[in-house]
Amino acid sequence: MAKDIIVVGGGIVGVCSALSLQRAGHHVRLIDSKKPGRETSYGNAGMLAEASFLVMNNPGLVKILPKILLNRTPGVRVNRWFVLKRLPWFLKFLSYCRKAHVLHAASTLRQLLTLSLDAHKELIKAAGVDHLLRQTGWLKLFRTEAGFAKFSKDLEIVKSFGARFTVYEREQIRQIEPGLKPIYCKAVLMDDTCAVSSPADLTDAYVALFQSLGGVVEQTKVTGLRQQDAGWCVECGANTFTADDLVLSAGAWSAEMASWLDYRIPMAWERGYHMHLQPGEAPALHRAIHDIEAGFVLAPMKAGLRVTSGVELTDRDAPPNYQQINYSVEMARQAYDMKDQLDQTPWIGRRPTLIDSLPMIGAAPRHDGLWFNFGHQHLGLSLAPGSAQLLTALIDNTPPPIDAAAFSPTRFRL
Ligand SMILES: Cc1cc2nc3c(=O)[nH]c(=O)nc-3n(C[C@H](O)[C@H](O)[C@H](O)COP(=O)(O)OP(=O)(O)OC[C@H]3O[C@@H](n4cnc5c(N)ncnc54)[C@H](O)[C@@H]3O)c2cc1C
Repeated sequence: MAKDIIVVGGGIVGVCSALSLQRAGHHVRLIDSKKPGRETSYGNAGMLAEASFLVMNNPGLVKILPKILLNRTPGVRVNRWFVLKRLPWFLKFLSYCRKAHVLHAASTLRQLLTLSLDAHKELIKAAGVDHLLRQTGWLKLFRTEAGFAKFSKDLEIVKSFGARFTVYEREQIRQIEPGLKPIYCKAVLMDDTCAVSSPADLTDAYVALFQSLGGVVEQTKVTGLRQQDAGWCVECGANTFTADDLVLSAGAWSAEMASWLDYRIPMAWERGYHMHLQPGEAPALHRAIHDIEAGFVLAPMKAGLRVTSGVELTDRDAPPNYQQINYSVEMARQAYDMKDQLDQTPWIGRRPTLIDSLPMIGAAPRHDGLWFNFGHQHLGLSLAPGSAQLLTALIDNTPPPIDAAAFSPTRFRL
């Protein structure tokens, strides 16, 4: 039966949710305070990953914890006051640093990632934006043999879940990416990983497809959520919108909105930055590279060469600290010849992360007609269309494309 459904939050997760529900025959209104896709979904590295299913909560993290807390790792920068303030979140996050959880998360994320990559390819075609898609893999690079040896342990797990990759030596790296400076001794190409050359254009195209099917977009800030009669009332200042069902998919803002309905969502924000640079004279990069030891990604994008930083753990709305992205840019310049910076100031985004690093997709435990779809951490772009398909099946009470149990909100006491 067709329902009226409101989706709150127009990042890539909300947009894909709205599109999937609209395609399933529902009447959908998507609400975002900005033009959809202009927060975290705007500035990511554009990777449509299918092999990035090893979560950060792993036993190795505990070993390097002192280094992380002293800000001695390039990939993670920690505000220690934030850690103290959110100590219960950190302790719970660390409690998942177990081999069994790594394997559980890998298995469930691998399924959702594979589903999503196929779904992205279909949506990209349907939205008429094939030119955005790159199917040239993702190159992980190592400056030292020791760095590669550490990563090799992860590769064993990656292989055991069926993801394909190819290892390259120094000379082969020069052949596949002649533009790179000769600082890398080993590389691993994740063969099936894809990418888009503009995450914002991708979201715009999906929104246009949603609207062409009759979906409605409202650009207004949500200020309140109320259950009313048999449905939902979404307050946006003086305006209200009503619907049978409500989907909350507001990324890093979802926990705050859920708290209006007395849910305590165990979410923190892994902030990250990007900066665009002008290409230099070196041969063009064929694909995004990830320098694991230096902690940056360099992705050729429509807007220029996008350098993205690792993780900054601090308050969602704390003032930006550009130290980490400046370091990433410096490291990226060691790898590839680039000219001027193209952005006045670095862009900042907020990855929404739950204590077990798995997204929350499913029915809210205490309210009929309320659905959650958020917490996609480093993988929101990659996971969005699969999560949307899963959510749609749950709302329609039809067989889900993959098992939804691992993502259920009821896995926590909220
Ligand atoms: C540096 C960096 C690199 C990344 N690289 C990748 C990558 O290569 N591949 C990948 O898969 N993932 C990547 N990610 C992660 C990915 O970008 C996120 O997981 C994803 O964008 C989250 O999408 P979302 O829709 O949940 O949230 P968002 O995109 O943040 O959307 C949330 C929306 O909610 C809206 N909203 C908030 N409050 C309100 C309100 N009160 N009323 C109305 N609307 C509201 C916001 O305006 C926003 O549009 C990266 C992230 C970062 C920071």
